[in-house]
Amino acid sequence: MDCMLYCFGILSAQGKLGCISDQNNRREPKMIRTADQWEAEYKNRKALWIHNGNPRQPHPILSSGDHSNGFFNSRLVTSDSMLLHDATSDLLELFEEHRGDFWQVDGCVGPQTGATRLAQVGSVWVSEYTRRPCFFASPAKHGEGESRSMLFSKEESALLSGKTVLPWEDVVTTGASVGLMVDAVVKNGGVVLSYILALVNRSNLQAVDGRRIVALFKRPRSIEAPSNCSLCKLGSEAIYPKDNWDRFNESC
Ligand SMILES: [Zn+2]
Repeated sequence: MDCMLYCFGILSAQGKLGCISDQNNRREPKMIRTADQWEAEYKNRKALWIHNGNPRQPHPILSSGDHSNGFFNSRLVTSDSMLLHDATSDLLELFEEHRGDFWQVDGCVGPQTGATRLAQVGSVWVSEYTRRPCFFASPAKHGEGESRSMLFSKEESALLSGKTVLPWEDVVTTGASVGLMVDAVVKNGGVVLSYILALVNRSNLQAVDGRRIVALFKRPRSIEAPSNCSLCKLGSEAIYPKDNWDRFNESC
């Protein structure tokens, strides 16, 4: 858990030095990719898939049962160390652009499992910049429906008391899981900053409960009931993405 011990490669995929401070402890503004370049990179990695309007292409069924015109697979981003490095570096750059204050951050939190590594690597960047410890914690979802909540481990709960944390998320769709995580932090005596750092904003929201969504880019997804789905009407087949990965990536 001691994030100071966690060593992470500093050179980014493009050979820049990311957002590490200089000897005067000032950060140099260095976005590694623009929003358009991030979107292109995700598509290139097949992490972001958007229906192209061709009825021969299937479209995804969301876990809610509704249909959509695309999906985002964050694992393909967070499992790639270099891409994860670039993403966390750029998100902290944007955090600072939006007047985020590194010195307020005692820890980084992100829900399991999609945002665990984001919070972990984010905490390393913050402690490298401030030269003081920054922990990370990753709560797990618990229960279903109305009784859904997020739980931190006993060790993590002890870290949170009286501390201010920065929330991370892989993808924001409804903001529901961030809300659960915020509740869990507060329950453990922690304070949550008014930001959500996310790989992609797939909602129409600018903020969730007053917390500004800071994302590498925004690409709201369509959500339609099966009975009224425009892609079904077009003749496109609705399928579950996790079971049919290859079919989405076949060219039509
Ligand atoms: Zn449909």
